[in-house]
Amino acid sequence: MAATTGSTEEELREQVVRVGRAMWERGLVSANDGNVSVRLTDGSVLCTPTGVSKGFMTADMLPVVALDGTTLRGSLRPSSEVLMHLRAYLEDPGVGAVVHAHPLYATAFAIKGEALTGLMMPESVVAMPEVPLAPYATPSTQEVPDSIAPFVRTHTGCLLEHHGALTWGPDLMTAYLAMERLEYSAQITVLTRQIDGERQLSPERVAAVRHRFNIPTP
Ligand SMILES: [Zn+2]
Repeated sequence: MAATTGSTEEELREQVVRVGRAMWERGLVSANDGNVSVRLTDGSVLCTPTGVSKGFMTADMLPVVALDGTTLRGSLRPSSEVLMHLRAYLEDPGVGAVVHAHPLYATAFAIKGEALTGLMMPESVVAMPEVPLAPYATPSTQEVPDSIAPFVRTHTGCLLEHHGALTWGPDLMTAYLAMERLEYSAQITVLTRQIDGERQLSPERVAAVRHRFNIPTP
């Protein structure tokens, strides 16, 4: 069940503004990049507008769209990238929020065309064992939502080839923290490669972590 249930639209508007500010302050987005959305209790989607820094939004700037992309409310246009968000909601009713950013290190891997797969820490075994790569898609086309659709039910985020990253979750904070975690994984991978390369947990240690946290072996 979407964990956003119970939050009023007014509360969710404030949450989106706070998450936008956090993304900007942490350098997960530059200029007007990135977008954030959250599912409202009536099934429509509150999202961020196009052409606006996510660090300087106010609650009244956020448009509301239907799952088919129709704008229902708001004076500012939604981002064209909202189609990618809507596809995540359509693929999985359990998705309550979606975050898109262009984090520096994760985007470097997206440009390189390399998924993040390292099992270097118990935390990554539990929370984000792999970040797949969604294949390149021409912006503002149906290719973009199609590229992320296969991963929505099986992962909590993906890289977007030559573009950035997308994360999702039952609520906005979970989706946002997944973006922080994804970028951290990219950063730590780059750093370990600079000191002679990654060192994965042994299969025995991975198995023990999965056993301890009741995570099925993929
Ligand atoms: Zn983007």
